[in-house]
Amino acid sequence: METGSKKDIKSFTLDQLKEEMEAMGEKSFRAKQLYEWMHKKQAAGYEEMTNISTALVSKCKECYSYTALVPVRVQESKIDGTRKYLFELADGNMVESVWMRYQHGNSVCISSQVGCRMGCRFCASTQDGLERNLLPSEMLDQIYAIIRHTGERVSNVVVMGSGEPMDNYDNLLQFITLLTDENGLNISQRNVTVSTCGIVTRMRQLADRRLQITLAISLHAATDEKRRQLMPIADSYHLDELLEACAYYFAQTGRRITFEYSLVRDVNDTDEDARQLSALIRGLNCHVNLIPVNPIKERNYVQSERRAVEAFKNKLEKNGINVTIRREMGRDIDGACGQLRRRYMKQDY
Ligand code: SAH
Repeated sequence: METGSKKDIKSFTLDQLKEEMEAMGEKSFRAKQLYEWMHKKQAAGYEEMTNISTALVSKCKECYSYTALVPVRVQESKIDGTRKYLFELADGNMVESVWMRYQHGNSVCISSQVGCRMGCRFCASTQDGLERNLLPSEMLDQIYAIIRHTGERVSNVVVMGSGEPMDNYDNLLQFITLLTDENGLNISQRNVTVSTCGIVTRMRQLADRRLQITLAISLHAATDEKRRQLMPIADSYHLDELLEACAYYFAQTGRRITFEYSLVRDVNDTDEDARQLSALIRGLNCHVNLIPVNPIKERNYVQSERRAVEAFKNKLEKNGINVTIRREMGRDIDGACGQLRRRYMKQDY
């Protein structure tokens, strides 16, 4: 893992860090100490590492970069306590993350890229295209910084913030390895969800790793024609290929697929849409999460009416499909993808 010319120390697995230490002529237990400071104690820098010698710290500073995020803004929802964080990266770029408190524990939603190149029409994150991929450490740092800020444990992680995780596949996998490592935060794979707009080749590759993470697919339409109007990725992969890849993921992992479906008034929320969606996913072990679209300034998509959302849900249920309506968290704090960063960059308050 490289940042500029230096390797990124927080993106190494413990074994990789041991190799690094050995190559430096250090004892390998130093790797374990450093790793625990970074990943168990979420140290913001070497100064906190009381049992690491100044000589080793100097060597590390010379050879490696050490990522750390600075919270630029923290907004807390008055409705549900959800917090939205805007972080500044070492190169001045910004990413956002969300902290949510649920009955079953705290959940953090992280970004996987600065910007995004997928071009979904309703999404704020993609309006200016992709700036760059995030490093594994920069994905972890979002969680670590939030743990430090809240002083609370995190039990669930969702990769559903800005960016397309499957477009940053290698770093995503390294991130998951580190996140679920028993020497680090030790989050159970079952408590990790990765959301994708549906990059089929990557979904199949991920299936072959047989991880126990949940795969969420942003579906948003039940016909290719309609999906193409909302999501350019639909030009590259047809729904039948996408659904086959979902079935393959279930076959390989035994994990039920989640479909995300953002309801847009008069676009994809009719009775006929619900019927087509039911037919499309029937027989697949899955769950549908309905999300009333969060309107963004740049487009005139409007939320479905409450009644239409309920009717849509009922229709799916009648067809035997598991469905929930996503509780809207942090509506009052730019909860949707990329909205806070975008406003901040434009100084538009
Ligand atoms: N790129 C990934 C993950 C990021 S988006 C993906 O496409 O899944 C997380 C979810 O929020 C996706 O389902 C996305 O389609 C949805 N989303 C983005 N902008 C939205 C908006 N304005 N209203 C409702 N859902 C939105």
